[in-house]
Amino acid sequence: MANSSTSKHIVKIMETEYINYDVKRFVVEKPSGFTFIPGQSVNISINLPGWKTKRRPFSFTNLPDEDTLEFIIKIYRNHEGVTHKLESINAGKELILHDVFGVLQYQEKGIFIAAGTGITPFISIIRNLYNTKRLSNHKLIYSNKTFQDIILDQELTEKMGDNYIKKFTRENTIGFIEQRIDRNYLIAHILRFDQNFYICGPQSFVTDISKYLFELGASANSIIIEE
Ligand SMILES: Cc1cc2nc3c(=O)[nH]c(=O)nc-3n(C[C@H](O)[C@H](O)[C@H](O)COP(=O)(O)OP(=O)(O)OC[C@H]3O[C@@H](n4cnc5c(N)ncnc54)[C@H](O)[C@@H]3O)c2cc1C
Repeated sequence: MANSSTSKHIVKIMETEYINYDVKRFVVEKPSGFTFIPGQSVNISINLPGWKTKRRPFSFTNLPDEDTLEFIIKIYRNHEGVTHKLESINAGKELILHDVFGVLQYQEKGIFIAAGTGITPFISIIRNLYNTKRLSNHKLIYSNKTFQDIILDQELTEKMGDNYIKKFTRENTIGFIEQRIDRNYLIAHILRFDQNFYICGPQSFVTDISKYLFELGASANSIIIEE
């Protein structure tokens, strides 16, 4: 049964754990008949007074055929938003799942380029490709501030091997000059620009990388982003 865009599901949290210093994993009940496509997201709110209408988008990170749903969420502790509240929300509490949406879906072989929590839609896609033995020859370029910020480094290394390229924009070293992914970096790591590119991260990251890829010869319909 397809999800209606107006449907609303109250689901119990079954399990939580921190997977790095500010990223928390939630495993929640999956409502009967609930479906999604790897790469899609859902608006979520917390089922507590004062929080029910505060919806925020999060990507599904596990696979549609599993019995539960998984979300991997970066907690912003510096202000009283939804993710800060999620810090104290654990097994037994409830979330509200609102509309499922997202056009960032897998089409054909290509390169994933992610920054920070922008990896989350690709986690479901990569797990799906891996389980169906279609992951070889896909490359992932994953940018983070430091090594401590990477999400699921071990799993990505195991699944993608040498095709997983890490880029750090900051280091905990005095004098380290911020290093972003730029045109030259893409030329050094991408051999062909006539393939698909999946890009996810902060809006400025998506805009910059898309622009560089166009300049380097990628066609508009080969660049797949969340609109
Ligand atoms: C389609 C989509 C899918 C997403 N999937 C995921 C996912 O799977 N996992 C994930 O972790 N994130 C994901 N995000 C991002 C996530 O939605 C946001 O991090 C979340 O909405 C933040 O909610 P919040 O209420 O805590 O912060 P908000 O109050 O909504 O603030 C959002 C941003 O503004 C900044 N900000 C706002 N107010 C302040 C303040 N007073 N002081 C300092 N900073 C401030 C925060 O740093 C934060 O980056 C996704 C986003 C989109 C669009």
